[in-house]
Amino acid sequence: MATQRKTVLIVFAHQSPRSFNAAVRDVAVHTLQGQGCQVIVSDLYAMDFRAVATAKDIAGELQNPEYFKYNEETLVAWREGRLSEDITAEQRKVQEADLIIFQFPMYWFSMPAILKGWIDRVFTQGFAFSLQKMYSNGVFKDKKALLSFTTGAPESMFLPDGINGDINITLWPIQNGVLNFCGFQVLPPQIFWAPATSPTSVRKVMLEAWQTRLGALWEETPLSFAKMHLFDMSLQGGFRLRPEVKEQHQGDTYGITTGQHLGKPLLPNNQIRAAPTI
Ligand SMILES: Cc1cc2nc3c(=O)[nH]c(=O)nc-3n(C[C@H](O)[C@H](O)[C@H](O)COP(=O)(O)OP(=O)(O)OC[C@H]3O[C@@H](n4cnc5c(N)ncnc54)[C@H](O)[C@@H]3O)c2cc1C
Repeated sequence: MATQRKTVLIVFAHQSPRSFNAAVRDVAVHTLQGQGCQVIVSDLYAMDFRAVATAKDIAGELQNPEYFKYNEETLVAWREGRLSEDITAEQRKVQEADLIIFQFPMYWFSMPAILKGWIDRVFTQGFAFSLQKMYSNGVFKDKKALLSFTTGAPESMFLPDGINGDINITLWPIQNGVLNFCGFQVLPPQIFWAPATSPTSVRKVMLEAWQTRLGALWEETPLSFAKMHLFDMSLQGGFRLRPEVKEQHQGDTYGITTGQHLGKPLLPNNQIRAAPTI
């Protein structure tokens, strides 16, 4: 049970209200509301959310209409309150949220385009990140985020010897490159393996396990990423791990994270299980 009223934003990306993804979303809505949380759902297909980042996202005059640069124009527009209304509405929800759950079916080892477009357009420069505010010093460091997704493939295909390769590698770009980059405390992902080819009884168990997890979600330890202070954040230093940090980990059997593997065997399950902070 949450000790104070929390707000959860569920960014939902499935076309069908009869899908397994919708069932997973509904379990989250009911369970979290039952805890006293405020739950906001952005149902992207139902909203017909526009996925493409273009000059239409900026109201009023562009800084440089001859050479449009999305990052630069949206930074100025965000500062001046001139981002399009659909982006601003989503940014307000993000600001309000203590936790964001991204609920989606895996598409091409990643997320559906409509959800990627939500990230492209909502997590604009200034609002979601800056050169000063990123990674462990990120804008959203007081918020949590969680990927909850279904797959077509069974888990065995995403094991380190499976044909799709290690799921930890698949998850690194989203969990590190988007969520950790923006500062979120990234909770371990909730993966629903192959619901479409699982028996009804197994799907029922999956939903029950999700409900149980949600009961204790606020106490969970996030995934472990390398903190900013471990890196030389100067241009000359190339934003690489400090020599003394590398020296400290020289004798380790595994790399530090899935990304900072230091040429060693990958740290097992770094992107799916919580671990002490590095
Ligand atoms: C473009 C594209 C790319 C893809 N890329 C990948 C990829 O890279 N890797 C990969 O693994 N997969 C991939 N897939 C497959 C995709 O991830 C799966 O089809 C999807 O995750 C299945 O989830 P769903 O919610 O659509 O399932 P559904 O088909 O909607 O549901 C599965 C079953 O659950 C039932 N169900 C619904 N509600 C409940 C309930 N309350 N209780 C119990 N059962 C219920 C449904 O009736 C159905 O029988 C891709 C699919 C597409 C379209």
